[in-house]
Parts: sequence; C-alpha cells; structure tokens
Amino acid sequence: MISFLDLQRINNSFEPQLSEEITRVVHSGYYLCGEETTRFEEEFALYCHTSYCVGVANGLDALTLILLAYQELGAMEKDDEVIVPANTFIATILAVIRAGMKPVFCEPSPETYNINVNRLESLITERTKAILPVHLYGQCAEMDVINKIAKKNNLKVIEDAAQAAGAVYKGKKTGNLGDAAAFSFYPSKNLGALGNGGAITSSDKNLADMVRSLANYGCLQKYKHVQKGINSRLEEIQSVALSVKLKRLNDDNNRRRAIAKRYLKGIDHPFITLPKVENWDSHVFHVFPIFCQRRDVLQSWLLKNGVQTHIHYPTPPHLQPALKEYEKHFLPVTEQIHREELSLPMSPMMTDAEVKAVIKAVNGFE
Ligand SMILES: *Cc1c(COP(=O)(O)O)cnc(C)c1O
Repeated sequence: MISFLDLQRINNSFEPQLSEEITRVVHSGYYLCGEETTRFEEEFALYCHTSYCVGVANGLDALTLILLAYQELGAMEKDDEVIVPANTFIATILAVIRAGMKPVFCEPSPETYNINVNRLESLITERTKAILPVHLYGQCAEMDVINKIAKKNNLKVIEDAAQAAGAVYKGKKTGNLGDAAAFSFYPSKNLGALGNGGAITSSDKNLADMVRSLANYGCLQKYKHVQKGINSRLEEIQSVALSVKLKRLNDDNNRRRAIAKRYLKGIDHPFITLPKVENWDSHVFHVFPIFCQRRDVLQSWLLKNGVQTHIHYPTPPHLQPALKEYEKHFLPVTEQIHREELSLPMSPMMTDAEVKAVIKAVNGFE
C-alpha cells in the first residue's frame, strides 16, 4: 500500500538530529518563551524575507491573532468584513468569525482553485477591511492583482500561507506577499512540527508586537497586561524541530515539484482533469489534486489497487453544520471542486517507484 503521507518516514529522515535537539530542550529546563523559539522566529523571518516572525500555538490562532491585532491597532473593528475564498479549510473562515468579523465568500477560479480575483471588486463594501487569500494546495494566489485591488480600496492583505511555506511568487516568498501572513506547522504541512505550531510573519513592527502581546495574555513586559490577550505560544520543543526541518524545506519542496512533474507527464485518463501549473516556483504541492466526476469510485478503485488518497475537502465550509447561516450561498464553482477533488500521495520521501505505481493505478481506472 502506498500511503497518502507517511509522517513517520519523513520525520525519521531527520534523525538523529531531530531527537538530539529535542533531548537538548528536555534537559535544558526551558519549555516556553525561551531562546529556541526566538531563534526559530529569526530563522523563519529571514527565510521569508520579512522583518518579523512571531511563533504561536497553531495556524488558526495565527490567522485570528492578526485580525485581533489589527482591531487593537484601530485598523479594523468588530463586524467589519473580510473577503475569503469559499473553498478552503474551515480554519480560514472560523478565524474571521472568532475575531468577531464577517467572512465574505469569494468563489475560486476554476483554473487555479484560488480566490477568483475577477470577482473581488464586486464583493467590496463600506465595511470591507481585508482580503484573506489562501495559497490553496500550496499554490500562490494571484497576489499582484490582489494587492493592487487592496491598495486601491485601502484594504489589508492577509495571506493564509498554511499550505505554502517556501513558495515563491514573482521572486518573493509566501509570508512576504501582503501586509501579514499566517502559517500552520501542523505535522502534515510542508514545514510540519511534531504537534501543533504556527507563526505570523510581517514587516509591520506594530502588528508583530501586537500579535506577540495578544498571544501572551496581552503583555510584552511580565505581569503588565495591556490587552485582554490569549495564550498561544510556540513551544521550545516544536521550535527546535522546526529549525531542523526548515534547513531542508527548499529541497523537500523541490522533490514535491519533481513528483508533481512526473504525475502531470504520466497521468493520462479521459475522466481525470489534472491541475494546471503556470509557475513552478509559486507552487510547493502541499497537495497534488486531480479532479474526476466519479471521484468516490476512483478513490475506492485506487485503494483496491494499493494507493491511499485523501479529499481536500469533502464538504465546502458553507455547507458544514457549523456554518449553516451561509448554507444558502450560491457557490457552484466551490461546490464542484469539493465534489470532484482527489489528492494523490505526495511527500518528499516518495520514491520514483512509488510515483510510477500511483500513475499506473490512476491510468488503469476503469
Ligand atoms: C492547516 C490549515 C490551517 C489551520 O492550521 P492549524 O495549525 O491546524 O490550526 C488554516 N488554513 C489552512 C488553509 C490550512 O490548510
């Protein structure tokens, strides 16, 4: 069986360094708010070419804290609107709601599966304060158009870069493509921790300081609580694991691209639509999506033929029970993507033989 994503194989490939670094933290006596997290923050800011990085507990908190920080700084208010892609992992939308703001759903482009920039301007109202594009499946959204529209309408641009650590859009890394960015280091992400983790990046000092304060009970100076903050910290153990893994992120992303190239070249089936890749630098293939009207039949067929797949995601956010106030929204492109998407195995540790076996199984679909 070819697994969808073998995290054990990925993390074993960082040994013995990974365990050595973790053991060092275990014996150090410092587990939170220490020098390992500071070091990782510096490394990741340098990697993204931003002035600041603030480690937080997870990707959802990273998104939420950016919006809460802008509210504290007076750039946004509760009930203001944030434009989000309608096809995303639910965290993007829950972050907006958790920050007391209103998500406005934008249909994706059927070509890129990312927010359809041609539809953005019609969604902007008096209350719109931000555009929150997601670099879905690891492919950068059309950031130059998004930034242009945002500038014209005085909006902030917040990247949901959870799936796209290391992607490069027109010479710039994700994390540095808007006013602020949120990352998740959930174990299966391209840069994955050994548990939860997240970060924000920005070159706006006020924003970075405010996120740091809000993430630590509203204080930058011990026991001086200026805001009603929350507790959202990146742990020291996760920080050393991320430092070790960050060194190989570019190589790992290149291996993902090489696998994607083989899939694109090798898969040829009348019932299957392959993703179009316009720019290889701006895609890090967190997921390799294929599309098929008989998706569920294809998934069982692949499983029977030794290939494990996943669906990203089976139900669009507006049709989830948690978001039933949005169930009447007319979002046919979003719904079609969720109905037809199937993610093939993708990991930097996949062998060429495994990639070949996946291609053979897909092409053999009856
Ligand atoms: C993973 C993910 C998140 C949330 O990250 P967590 O660390 O699980 O909170 C947010 N947005 C997108 C697009 C994601 O893929």
